[in-house]
Amino acid sequence: MSKQFQFKLVLLGESAVGKSSLVLRFVKNQFDDYRESTIGAAFLTQTVTLDDQTIVKFEIWDTAGQERYKVSLTQAPMYYRNANCAVVVYDITQASSLDKARTWIRELQRQADPSIVIALCGNKTDLAVRRQVTQEEAKKYADEEGLMWFETSAKTGEGVSEVFTAIAKKLPLSA
Ligand code: GDP
Repeated sequence: MSKQFQFKLVLLGESAVGKSSLVLRFVKNQFDDYRESTIGAAFLTQTVTLDDQTIVKFEIWDTAGQERYKVSLTQAPMYYRNANCAVVVYDITQASSLDKARTWIRELQRQADPSIVIALCGNKTDLAVRRQVTQEEAKKYADEEGLMWFETSAKTGEGVSEVFTAIAKKLPLSA
């Protein structure tokens, strides 16, 4: 008999870094170059099977809609309240997006549940010729803050499932 554990996961980061695209890749294994910002279902779910006995089900909340309605940082705690894990995304071709990611991480460290599992994720590795954020810089920052760090491409799918599997492995799974 396998056991299923459910966790709330939120995505945070500057607009257009690829948060919704990462969710679409992870949940449906699709990518859309011309996708409009998502509004619709409050959240999507996807499971990660760790072994025969253990299935982790993610309830994924994407901020896309919230940004559109200009929900401010001060209202954001409503969104990540009770979140078990967060993927904070930046775009490796936009240096400013790493600054925004740092702001979100500080915010989570101050306001979210102290047990929250945070992954920092540099997206759009397929555009590496336009890279502005080095791997060294991002990795150093993640190490200093004790965060997991990944690079992904929602477009090619590179690295995407690894982010969610690594988070699943870090979550507290108790019988
Ligand atoms: P969000 O606002 O953070 O949710 O970002 P979106 O998921 O809406 O993506 C913003 C834009 O970047 C869209 O045009 C996507 O097609 C594009 N995009 C997202 N991820 C990638 C990626 O890994 N590579 C490339 N080349 N484009 C991406």
